[in-house]
Amino acid sequence: MDIEAFAQHLVTLADTFKTSDIHILPEEKHYSAYFRLNGRMEKQFFLDIDEGTRLISYFKFVSNMDVGERRKPQSGSLAFQLPEKKIDLRFSTIANYHTKESLVIRLLQQKEASDHTVNTFFQHELNQLKELISYKSGLILFSGPVDSGKTTTIYQLVKNRITEEKQQVVTVEDPVEIHESQFLQTEVNEKAGITYEHLLKSSLRHHPDVLIVGEIRDEETAKMVIRGALTGHLIIASVHAKNTKGIISRLKELGISQELLEQTIIGAVFQKLLPVYCPLCAKHCSSYCTHISPEQKRAALYEVVSGKDLSCLFESESKHQNEAIRTIDRSFNHLLKKVQLYGFISEKTCRQYAIP
Ligand SMILES: [Zn+2]
Repeated sequence: MDIEAFAQHLVTLADTFKTSDIHILPEEKHYSAYFRLNGRMEKQFFLDIDEGTRLISYFKFVSNMDVGERRKPQSGSLAFQLPEKKIDLRFSTIANYHTKESLVIRLLQQKEASDHTVNTFFQHELNQLKELISYKSGLILFSGPVDSGKTTTIYQLVKNRITEEKQQVVTVEDPVEIHESQFLQTEVNEKAGITYEHLLKSSLRHHPDVLIVGEIRDEETAKMVIRGALTGHLIIASVHAKNTKGIISRLKELGISQELLEQTIIGAVFQKLLPVYCPLCAKHCSSYCTHISPEQKRAALYEVVSGKDLSCLFESESKHQNEAIRTIDRSFNHLLKKVQLYGFISEKTCRQYAIP
């Protein structure tokens, strides 16, 4: 097998399918290549051990990894030349205990923001979000698993905001996922010494109307974001948490006092992308089924906490767990159940996506 030609074929195909990741995994007596399509792994190719190993070595070589090193996990990146364009790829390898390596390739599609629209079940939360995004200053925090449509949601809402009047929007990301010519998009580049902290600091000096921060990852970024929100910017940031309440706890963990949080946060959002039920497939819609269009195969479910609900959230944070806490009406799990009862998702999806 011509490995270089196969690698070209693999990436071209993945790009055509709009795959987010290619997984090349060692299995019992062979390798398999999977595409992640609409959040699910789908098998594409069988490779024998020799082909799989050579393919991984090839990608390691072209992305400047150490080809001879097979035990330690490695990562690399590359602008890969396809027949008609270049595509940014991020690589990461890890070996199993037999020192057989697996490789995951993330495709950074650099899609135009106009290709993205938020597909959602309820207009209510979207309206709530639109209102929040129209504020002059404050902090809006988003949370949800990887690939839950956070960036798409944020980009679309901010784009709506700036259709009315020209405003300066700056983004700090690692890496930029969606290309949007109306925003000033900046990207971390550790090799060139451009860190998250540097970018955040200089972005705030740019006095943007809206600052989008890819992720609050440590105490330093948390402090800067809070300072920015206090000095009259609207800041929209993502943070790792398992629900909206977790967002508050996470920021406290990063050393921000409840008082400061209450002064800055105007909204907390948790979201997941759910696979939509298809009557033809009799479950979530497969990537190859044409009954539901590719953009409609998944839809976002949001829990948006603002106003009174937000005050309750803060209150419950300062209370002990066994004290009675008023829960919000349109909580994620409540809406999830509702979506299932309407028949938009399967019972299985409802179980899998509920917040424990
Ligand atoms: Zn289907």
